[in-house]
Amino acid sequence: MSFAPNFPQHEFEASQTAARKGIDNSLPADKLDDMVKVSWWLQELRNKINRIHRTESRARELPVIITSGYRCPELNTAIGGSSTSQHMRAQAVDIHVPGMTARQLVDFIAEHMTGYDQMIEEFGRWVHVSVCDSPRGEVLVARKSGKGVRYAPLKAD
Ligand SMILES: [Zn+2]
Repeated sequence: MSFAPNFPQHEFEASQTAARKGIDNSLPADKLDDMVKVSWWLQELRNKINRIHRTESRARELPVIITSGYRCPELNTAIGGSSTSQHMRAQAVDIHVPGMTARQLVDFIAEHMTGYDQMIEEFGRWVHVSVCDSPRGEVLVARKSGKGVRYAPLKAD
């Protein structure tokens, strides 16, 4: 299976940090299938956002923008990512949608999407989503806490 029309392979490999540090962040062949699954999950999300969330006043389709997709181990270390990050397994993406807050995007996904393993509203700025077999459907919120990060279950308002 190939990548979804609105989420081509290069969008998952692009990284300013990798480019700056000369790190080759190409997806390895054995991780392509997992990233393809993420791309089709994102396509379903994009389609639903534009079918359900879209308002009459909006002329153009809303994009779902990937700010971080695959991370090879060297890149993950360079950005200080978790040593068990699902980004390294090609099962996670960080996304945002222009015109939606991170919380609005989380709420939309929780209401309209299935199949996500872990979804994290990160610092009110973007949403981390992982997709894998046997998904847990866990929803968390990440906030700065001193020098670290605190993760807590997201409570419904
Ligand atoms: Zn992430």
